[in-house]
Parts: sequence; C-alpha cells; structure tokens
Amino acid sequence: MKQYLVKPETKVKLSKWDPNDTGDFKGGKEEGLAKLEKLNGKLETLQELMFAEHKHKVLVVLQAMDTGGKDGTIRRVFDRVNPAGVRVASFKAPTEEELDHDYLWRVHKQVPGKGELVVFNRSHYEDVLVVRVHNYVPPEVWGKRFDQINEFERTLAENGTTILKFYLHIDLDEQKERLQARLDDPTKRWKFRLGDLEERKLWPEYMKAFEDVLSKTSTEYAPWYIIPANRKWFRDLAISSVLVDTLEGLNMKYPESEENLDGVVIE
Ligand code: ATP
Ligand code: MG
Repeated sequence: MKQYLVKPETKVKLSKWDPNDTGDFKGGKEEGLAKLEKLNGKLETLQELMFAEHKHKVLVVLQAMDTGGKDGTIRRVFDRVNPAGVRVASFKAPTEEELDHDYLWRVHKQVPGKGELVVFNRSHYEDVLVVRVHNYVPPEVWGKRFDQINEFERTLAENGTTILKFYLHIDLDEQKERLQARLDDPTKRWKFRLGDLEERKLWPEYMKAFEDVLSKTSTEYAPWYIIPANRKWFRDLAISSVLVDTLEGLNMKYPESEENLDGVVIE
C-alpha cells in the first residue's frame, strides 16, 4: 500500500489520484472481503498485544468529504477488535467552550495513552479545512496552522505515539450517488442534511484545502495516505493493511510477569 503514501514535501494534485483504483489487488470485491476478514482477525490479536504490553500509543486520523466513508471504515476495519481497547473521538463543530480555547485544546485531550488505539473521526485538520473554506478565521490565522500541526504531531510522536493519517478519496460523482442513496433510503435519511448540498457546491475549494493539507503535513513521523475510496471494500482493505503492517512493525511482546510463577499450580 506504499503507493498511497504521500512522501514528505511533495505537492499533491488530487486530480492525479484515481478514487476508483484497486491497486495491485486483482481479485475483486469477493477476494477483497475475504482478505479483510483475515486482516480483521490479525488486528484483533495485535490490539490485544498492544493493550497487554502497555507501551505504544496509536493514533489513526480519518478525514474525508461528506459521505467519504469515515463511519463505514470504522465499522468494518475495527469489526473484530475488543471495544474496550479502542476509542473513537469524533470532532464536530466546536462548542462555545472549545472556541474559547486554541483549536488543539480539545484535540490534545483525546490523544491515546499507553496501550491505547484511538481513531479520530475528523480532527484538528478541520481547522485548516472547513474553517478555511468558510473563512471562520482569516488566512493569517489558519495559514500558520500547518507548522503548528506538524509541531504538535512531532511532540506526540517523540513521546511514543504512532500516527497514521488517512484521507478517503472519493469523487464528485460518487458523492452524488451516496447523497442520493441517503435521501432515497428511509434508514439512511437521518444522515442527510440540506446543508450537505451547500458544502457540495464548495467541492473545488475543499479539494484545494485538502491538497494543501496533504502537501504540507505529511511527515516521516505522521504520514498521510490518500486512500482510493469509491470502492468501499478496497478502502477498508487498504486502511486495514497499513494499520496491520504498522502494528506488526512495532515488534510488541507480551510482558513477563513481575513475579516468578514457575511451578505455581492452582489447587
Ligand atoms: P460526519 O459528517 O463526520 O459523518 P455527522 O454528519 O454525524 O458527522 P456533522 O455535524 O454533519 O455530523 O459533522 C460534523 C460537522 O462539524 C462537519 O460539518 C464539520 O466540518 C464540522 N466541524 C468539525 N470541526 C470543526 C471546526 N473545528 N470548526 C468548524 N466546524 C467543524
Ligand atoms: Mg455529516
């Protein structure tokens, strides 16, 4: 999945990234789902190991346009994982108290502790995306945030946090279909807001904002992946693969008992 990694300091043009791509994966959806099931099992074991070892902290950041699939990704990638070991933090429009503080205040409170895996459903990146597109703060303010975010993430990384960031890449046509599906299906309608249509009109502005995010904030210690996300099965598979590979790379070990338990027999 290395082809989806954004190398630090590269200029990203999203029109050059194919949202329908399924990479080297020739087997199609059925094979993809079978592979995902295997990966989900691996993730279950790795997460338990991580919890037991109580050493590493893992942060997964998900960003996407509306209907991009953040919720679906969380549901399917963490399907098998023990809910006690994973936490999802969702960042909605800030409250009054949050607005009274710097934009990283609410975010820092939610970062993972030792042995914990946290998924950010939206994140501090909203403060250079929606905030920029809607001019909630002037360019002098959001313009400084790319460096601030890099420094914030560097601090987390240097203090033992493994960070993975995924941009779920869909196109305008796919969003049209997914929004229409939400309208047509009474069980999905609750997700639809008229405001989503206003946001949709701002698609080009959002793409520009995302391109800046991806170009300026993909680092060695907190890389971005651009995940082709028109095909949901491939999106899930790609993210799961990166996550499993990364966790395997941590070389985690079950801790030794602090006491000598040799020869202890339960009566
Ligand atoms: P989602 O669309 O993520 O699945 P949702 O539909 O349940 O979530 P919404 O209220 O539509 O909930 O989404 C959260 C909204 O909060 C988004 O429109 C997002 O842009 C906005 N938001 C998040 N962070 C900020 C921020 N820092 N400043 C302004 N708006 C923000
Ligand atoms: Mg929404």
